[in-house]
Amino acid sequence: MDTNPDPRGPRRAIFLDRDGVINVKLGENRYVARVPEFEFLPGVIEALTILRELGFFLVVVTNQRGIAKGLMTTEDLNEVHNHMAAALGEEGVGLDAIYYCPHEADENCPCRKPSPGMILDAARDLVLDLSASYMVGDSPSDTAAGRNAGTRTVRIGSDCDDQADLAFPTLLDFARFLGKERHERDKERAEK
Ligand SMILES: [Mg+2]
Ligand SMILES: [Zn+2]
Repeated sequence: MDTNPDPRGPRRAIFLDRDGVINVKLGENRYVARVPEFEFLPGVIEALTILRELGFFLVVVTNQRGIAKGLMTTEDLNEVHNHMAAALGEEGVGLDAIYYCPHEADENCPCRKPSPGMILDAARDLVLDLSASYMVGDSPSDTAAGRNAGTRTVRIGSDCDDQADLAFPTLLDFARFLGKERHERDKERAEK
C-alpha cells in the first residue's frame, strides 16, 4: 500500500515492535517459531484499526535473533508473519510493511534495535516523515531505536520509562489517546 492513509497530512507511521506489543511474548530466550505459538494481545486489532483511521502507515519492526540462534528459519518466521498479516487483513487492518532483524547481538548489524536501521529502511522505502511518526515498544531497545531514528517514542507495558516520550499499559490505550487528541484538535478547529 503506497497511498498516504492521511492525504491531508504528512506521511507518518506507527512503528510497532511485535512481541509484547502485538502478540503475547513467550518469555526470555523463547521465540515464536510456529503459527500456533502466535497469539494476539487483547485489544490489538481495535488499536490498529484506530491508528489506521487516524492516518498512520503501520510498520512492524522486530528483532528475531532466534534465526541467528538456529531456533527457527526465515521460512518459519515468514509463515508466522503471513499468518499475522492475514489475520489482521480479515479484520480490515492492512500492515504496510514488516521488517525483521535476524542477527545476533554481537554481529553488530545496523538493523538490530536499538540501532535504527529497520526504521530508516522503512522511512526510505515508504517515504515517511520520521519526526511525525512514533516507535512503540515494550523494551528500552525499542524506545532507543526510535530516538536514534528521530521518531517520537512510546513505551507499552507496566514498567515506567523515562526515556520514552509517552507510556501506556497497552497499545489500545495509546491508540485511544491519539484518537482523543485528534478529536479535541478537530473540535478546536471547528470552533474557530
Ligand atoms: Mg518486544
Ligand atoms: Zn540485524
